[in-house]
Amino acid sequence: MNLNAIKKLRTQLDKHRYKCKENCWECCTAVPTTEEEAKLIVKELRRQGYKEPPRGKGEKYCEMLTPDGKCSVYNQRPIICRAFSDIKYRIAR
Ligand code: SF4
Repeated sequence: MNLNAIKKLRTQLDKHRYKCKENCWECCTAVPTTEEEAKLIVKELRRQGYKEPPRGKGEKYCEMLTPDGKCSVYNQRPIICRAFSDIKYRIAR
């Protein structure tokens, strides 16, 4: 998937998006990303001064989590994160 396709899909998902609850990382385990998404994530981490992912919640959880349970790359999080939280919310309603 190229960068334009990723951005287009993100826009569509974000239009009707469920916002994650503050400090909830229940869904945040290891997630697959495309190569382009990985590049965006690395760029975001560097922009914030991280030399490596924060790995704040240990091995069982996504390495992008900070110790206080926030996604360090929330604005650049992969499509699977955006879609999964939305699906989970719709099923729960
Ligand atoms: S990238 Fe962010 S939203 Fe996605 S699983 Fe990791 S911490 Fe959660």
